[in-house]
Amino acid sequence: MKIGIDIDNVITNTFEELSHYFNHFMRKEFTPPEAIEAMRKEKLKMVGYWFLTWRRGLLTQVKPIAGARETIRLLHAEHQIALITSRMPVFNRQTKIWLSRHDVPYHELHHAKEKHKYKKAGGCRYFIEDNLEEAEVLADHCEKIFLFDYPWNRRTTRDNIIRVNGWRDIEALVNAG
Ligand SMILES: [Mg+2]
Repeated sequence: MKIGIDIDNVITNTFEELSHYFNHFMRKEFTPPEAIEAMRKEKLKMVGYWFLTWRRGLLTQVKPIAGARETIRLLHAEHQIALITSRMPVFNRQTKIWLSRHDVPYHELHHAKEKHKYKKAGGCRYFIEDNLEEAEVLADHCEKIFLFDYPWNRRTTRDNIIRVNGWRDIEALVNAG
């Protein structure tokens, strides 16, 4: 089967590791949900933020989330793995460098705008995501969405969105069918 997987905060520990840098850039201390909201609203500022992030190669330095590599390697042996990220295409090279450095295997890597991942997720039976709004759109296109539990995605939601606490949960859920 085909499995879609998000990258930031699912494979890479991006939010936690870059939040200090983000707050410094914004000159404000944000809680995680506030930071996510600011990233969506302050579009112009975000162009500057992502440009600096790209220039400094920060996304090549973040750490993997525990169990991500091990579980994806297992899944990759049996299933088609499509990594679908809302990172801008300018990050494609840095993303590939990171994935290769950390031995994360995949068959496809796509970039899509927020809430548009479904366009690249055709045929994905499962999708692993942390963004609730994205998950709610994907829930119309995939059988099940496994949503990594985070402070920014905690509210009641669709029946086929299953909250998970880590990669161990995902391995069990995929194997259970
Ligand atoms: Mg994410």
